Amino acid sequence: MALKSDLFIGGNWIAGAERIPVTDPSDESTITEISLAGEKEVEMAVSAAYNAQKSWAKTAPRVRGEILRKAFELMVQEADAIATIVVKENGKIFTDARNEVIYAAEFFRWFAEEAVRINGEFRHAPSGDKRFLVTQQPIGVSLLITPWNFPAAMATRKIGPALAAGCTTILKPATETPLTALAVVDILQRAGVPDGVVNVILPKQTGKAVSSMLHDPRIMNLSFTGSTEVGRVLLKESADRIVRTSMELGGNAPVVIFDDADLDVAVQGTLVAKMRNGGAACTAANRIYVSKKIAKDFTARLTDAMAKIKMAPGLSEGAQLGAFVSMKERNKIAELVDVAVKGGADVKTGGKIVTEKGAFYPPTVLEVDAKNEILKHEVFGPVAPIVTFDDDNHAIEMANDTEFGLISYVFSSNLGRAIRAAEAIESGMVAINRGVISDPAAPFGGVKQSGIGREGGFDGINEFLEKKYIGVEI
Ligand code: ADP
Repeated sequence: MALKSDLFIGGNWIAGAERIPVTDPSDESTITEISLAGEKEVEMAVSAAYNAQKSWAKTAPRVRGEILRKAFELMVQEADAIATIVVKENGKIFTDARNEVIYAAEFFRWFAEEAVRINGEFRHAPSGDKRFLVTQQPIGVSLLITPWNFPAAMATRKIGPALAAGCTTILKPATETPLTALAVVDILQRAGVPDGVVNVILPKQTGKAVSSMLHDPRIMNLSFTGSTEVGRVLLKESADRIVRTSMELGGNAPVVIFDDADLDVAVQGTLVAKMRNGGAACTAANRIYVSKKIAKDFTARLTDAMAKIKMAPGLSEGAQLGAFVSMKERNKIAELVDVAVKGGADVKTGGKIVTEKGAFYPPTVLEVDAKNEILKHEVFGPVAPIVTFDDDNHAIEMANDTEFGLISYVFSSNLGRAIRAAEAIESGMVAINRGVISDPAAPFGGVKQSGIGREGGFDGINEFLEKKYIGVEI
């Protein structure tokens, strides 16, 4: 698969206003140079999406679904090639990249199936003399903004439901990882997506271009995945034209391990919840609360497992932890660990940059007290701060002591106790005795400042539909 590095607008590959390098963070080499969109190209993308909207909305749901199904098949067939692009521009290890590509493809399959299940209602009014018809229509041109940590899956999780619902799209991938998004739209084009239905632009000036699109009457919907900080700015921008928004924002996931947890399951689950994607996930375990009764054993075993992880460039043999997307992101992790250590953290393993070249940070386990500053931040890396607790209720209080509420993890052998904890924890998702629960068929999303709306599952398509009520006199 030849690397695509131009903008994709109206079904054409377009060289933009200028080019900037895309960097491989494992050795800081340039992979290729990517086109940037100036004002002209941004306008071209909005026009292309707008002009395609009516006919795409009218395209039979079965046809829309079959295109998505074809895209799923192509993506699975070409998973290795796409995963290699993900590794190169993101830095993660090949296994994580391949798992991501398969997970990403599943959004196309799931929403291919959902395209033909957009339902409505026919009801009798309570008064009996009228009828209520409720139908669902595509919202219209949707702006999709995605982050660098899952460059394939965050794109398909939005494109899948948008296309199934009958919306046309403009995707703005993260500046660090545009090549994966272009590989995904190349597949969509080969699967038969009509010109203009999916467009990809990387604006020269992100903030300005996104603001101008959110003020353009042709843009009806915004689906954003990224930091809470940027999400807040975009919500304000969207307010001017009451643009419909869905927001998948930051997380600071707690893990609560009760004294009756199966220790093998808890260690393995925490390890996966922490280390999937090198810890660069909004679902990553960030605050690990362990019952004092089992803390010594748990910490020793987690430390042992973390210390054994092999850190190496993502495509190299046996690599278990790759590079982070950029030196800037790597340095953010290092700074947070330094702050934790200044605040009294006891470093069990890792805790220091050990490589000269590349954006690497080693697996790190810290024992901290409940007030340590690191617990207030979303650490986008392989750092596991452990806090001990005596009392279940106190553990839940600490888990809830955050403005975030995306996901939580609970480990216990007593299902009743685990469910009581899951109900008391303020988060949109709770994993019980598992380290990963993301699934295209389940509703992903947060409460509090972790977001608005849900992606995947039966809910995901609703972010691209609006209801129309038709009242009939009979
Ligand atoms: P992360 O660092 O987790 O990827 P960000 O919120 O920084 O989170 O970025 C998520 C996406 O939002 C990226 O595509 C990024 O380029 C984009 N972005 C960043 N700042 C802005 C902004 N001011 N306006 C619009 N989009 C932005």
